[in-house]
Amino acid sequence: MVDPKDSALRVRPGRAAPGPPQDLIARVSNRRRSLSRQQYVDGILQGQRTILARAITLIESSRATDRQLAEQILEDCLPHTGNSIRVGITGVPGAGKSSIIEVLGSSLIRDPGQRVAVLAIDPSSQLSGGSILGDKTRMKSLAASEMAFIRPSPSGGSLGGVAQRTREVMLLCEAAGYQNIIVETVGVGQSETAVHDMVDFFLLIMLAGAGDELQGMKRGVMELADLVVINKADGSNRVAAEKARTEAQNALHYFPSSQAGWTPRALTCSARTGTGIPELWNCVLSYIALTKANGYFGLARRNQMKQWMHEIIQNGLRRQFESHPAIQKRLEVLEQDVVQGRTTSFRAARALLDIYTAPLPADPNSRH
Ligand code: GDP
Repeated sequence: MVDPKDSALRVRPGRAAPGPPQDLIARVSNRRRSLSRQQYVDGILQGQRTILARAITLIESSRATDRQLAEQILEDCLPHTGNSIRVGITGVPGAGKSSIIEVLGSSLIRDPGQRVAVLAIDPSSQLSGGSILGDKTRMKSLAASEMAFIRPSPSGGSLGGVAQRTREVMLLCEAAGYQNIIVETVGVGQSETAVHDMVDFFLLIMLAGAGDELQGMKRGVMELADLVVINKADGSNRVAAEKARTEAQNALHYFPSSQAGWTPRALTCSARTGTGIPELWNCVLSYIALTKANGYFGLARRNQMKQWMHEIIQNGLRRQFESHPAIQKRLEVLEQDVVQGRTTSFRAARALLDIYTAPLPADPNSRH
């Protein structure tokens, strides 16, 4: 008989099974734990990136309770906003926006304490559900820095809705201590105007040799620009870039001088070699210094706050309208009536507005 001690079948004491990784559990539950309004605000003001990112998720949420909390957080953060330089950047895909932001942003954060936030308004996410600006591989080294915060465009909804959310994200970033805010957009559609209306300085990036039409160099976009930069002025492209710069400078002269007292400039640069990028930023700083001295800086920002109010009203009304139960019931039917020619757009819209503004039927359960 084999001594049970020597049997291969005996149960060995073994080692205690490792418990669940405690730190992971703590991190996950921490992430899920909902934070109070005060915790959000404290976290943002301390510059905590995870809390900032969570607050931005609230801003971008379509849930009414999230929206309400987001508004409260914004309200508390507002006194800590405004202390930044806000720069809008536009240009067609391939013009070199992200390359320039990468070089510019990296040089800005080399100064101790300087932080950069890069936000985007991408109208393509509304048109196609895809995204031109959303690619995560862009601005790799900037994205790796603790001093930079890169957030892709909020997706979905109207351009007005996306613009409102981006404006709000910008304010939270300022409260979190980002002194340099870059808002990027693709040069298509109305998004340039939306970006222009939330920044201090608007930069148009162009290329030499590409057709004006292709570059969105429509009068409207050029007119918004405080600076036009011809990028890729390197190698054999340098001469063509200089020629394009002169042409752009000449074109800028045709626009009426802006209220800012600033004459828009045209420069060349190369994100590849870094040439011209310090001059670009010096141009931004000169503009800020000039407009702060002549009062335009504050005036423009106050007007932008007024515009934000109108955006909140418009988007709020739209949300209320679209979530109104009686509207939801009728909207699709009336849309079809219009499409099939059974009614006119005008009559259908009027009927919906009447439903929306009609007083609610008295609640039979309520006692008078
Ligand atoms: P975006 O779509 O406007 O953000 O453009 P990207 O920054 O992604 O640049 C588009 C392409 O142009 C990339 O392949 C870049 O490497 C290239 N590029 C960007 N800047 C320069 C530059 O200054 N010189 C040259 N030669 N190529 C550049």
